[in-house]
Amino acid sequence: MSHPTIAVVGSGPIGSAYARVLLEQLPDARVVMFEAGPQLTARPGASVRNIPDPEEKARARDLSQGPQSGAFRESLGIPGSAVVEGTFTARQGTFLLDFGGEGSAHAPTFPAAAAATNVGGQGAHWTCATPAPAFSEKVPFIPAEEWDDLLATAQHLLHVQSEAFADSPIGAAIRSLLADEFGAELPDGYGVGTLPVAGDPQPDGSMVWAGADVVLGPLIEPGTPESARFELRDMSLVRRIEHADGVVTGVTVEDLRTHDTTSFPADLVVVAADAFRSPQLLWASGIRPAALGRYLTEHHVVISTIALEGERMAALVSEEQLRSELARRARHAADPIAAVNRIPFSEPEHPFSLQVMYAENPPFPLDPAHPHAGNRWGYVNMGYGVRKHPRVEDGVRFDDAELDYAGFPNMTIEYALTEREDREIAAATERLRRAGGALGTFVADPRLMPNGSSLHYMGTMRMGEADDGTSVADPHSRVWGTENLVVGGNALIPTANTMNPTLMSVALAVRGARAAAARLAAR
Ligand code: FAD
Repeated sequence: MSHPTIAVVGSGPIGSAYARVLLEQLPDARVVMFEAGPQLTARPGASVRNIPDPEEKARARDLSQGPQSGAFRESLGIPGSAVVEGTFTARQGTFLLDFGGEGSAHAPTFPAAAAATNVGGQGAHWTCATPAPAFSEKVPFIPAEEWDDLLATAQHLLHVQSEAFADSPIGAAIRSLLADEFGAELPDGYGVGTLPVAGDPQPDGSMVWAGADVVLGPLIEPGTPESARFELRDMSLVRRIEHADGVVTGVTVEDLRTHDTTSFPADLVVVAADAFRSPQLLWASGIRPAALGRYLTEHHVVISTIALEGERMAALVSEEQLRSELARRARHAADPIAAVNRIPFSEPEHPFSLQVMYAENPPFPLDPAHPHAGNRWGYVNMGYGVRKHPRVEDGVRFDDAELDYAGFPNMTIEYALTEREDREIAAATERLRRAGGALGTFVADPRLMPNGSSLHYMGTMRMGEADDGTSVADPHSRVWGTENLVVGGNALIPTANTMNPTLMSVALAVRGARAAAARLAAR
């Protein structure tokens, strides 16, 4: 087909990966990306973490919080009258789906479920941890060699590198103490190491964190051939995917500034609007495969904070090294992370992912009278990710008779941990105690975060090998029974997963985009 028009719904890392790969593969295609939220930064989709001014950063986060945007709410096209503020808020930059009041989703069993509505999506707020799936976390029906290539492409798109803070002597000491504790139990290649992150290290030791901006790359660089064929429309809510007989013809879009609604014809529609709002949009459009919204998983998180123990650290880090580390930290006060380590998932003995973030201060105010307040060696925030085994019972339902604050069929999330997860959570908690004991003293005891806290929601549009009712999309992310509707995001992941999934989802998006481009080129 010559000059195909492609509509992408959602401007997070996944919609951006689709836009980039499709435009690079199809030299005469045009992509229009629709994003319900506002553009926060001059460079579309840049990480809010890179904004140095605290007030500007807080404003960007507020603007992303959809129905919990407080003073900004009505300017974001959300009627103030339809919304009551919830009793607690989500992580900054996100809003709870179940925020309380009229128009709120219902998620009593998954209360921390949250989303972001802004250019760049959650990818403007993420921590940038980009581990790759391992063992049974991988999609079993994607050939190993192709998977390696997809991962390498995704790492390139996200600017992933493994050497962030690798020269931090404190980071190295933490790795050494954890290796003493766990090394003998872990298989080769899956021991204690640095955590890959997405961003660009700067000569002064700081990081410029990656957002959807780096994925878009040439699409947002003035003067490039790709930028001439790319358009990003913010504050544009896609209300419906238009289709007949399995063929999608375009989308209906509401401009949230004017509330005008228009039709946008397209030869391909890509929906990458997160793991709850993508299936909601499909449902609202009358596209309702049996598995839509079902098989919801996340990885559960058991976390704690530890004050690093001076004596143990001093045996591995000289006074001079500590002083230079503290001086480096003082130069980058806006960014609290100073080193990132991990123990990855491996089977059968270690079906967990441990992440260890070193920071100068604990993530909560510590009473100055606390014996470990003001610890000169700093603190680590550590969390074990624990998998959730997919079950059809866990998921989100949509109610045509009750509309949410945006006028979509409202969501109710149903979710429960089983004995299988309880056992693995108990084992992870035990390991967290050992890890904490190896590094210092707990200033916050290990605790299981409420369901939904991971912000990594998977499975609700899972891919499968056959159209047998247990999946929504084929192995190339095309919705079963449709010719030209592709879905993207963590929702596609069909496996039980313990790690941050964005890299994996970008890899799946690259696969989906290549296949869609080949289909369009052949028409
Ligand atoms: P999103 O980034 O959620 O983007 C979806 C976009 O679609 C949103 O902007 C939304 O407004 C838009 N949209 C929804 N409905 C419509 C509609 N009808 N019309 C138009 N637009 C619509 N992941 C990791 O892998 N590692 C991490 O370290 C990590 N840390 C995180 C920390 C935080 C604080 C948060 C919030 C997330 C974190 N994540 C992390 C998760 C990561 O950000 C997501 O996996 C990733 O952003 C998903 O990309 P996406 O493009 O699928 O969806």
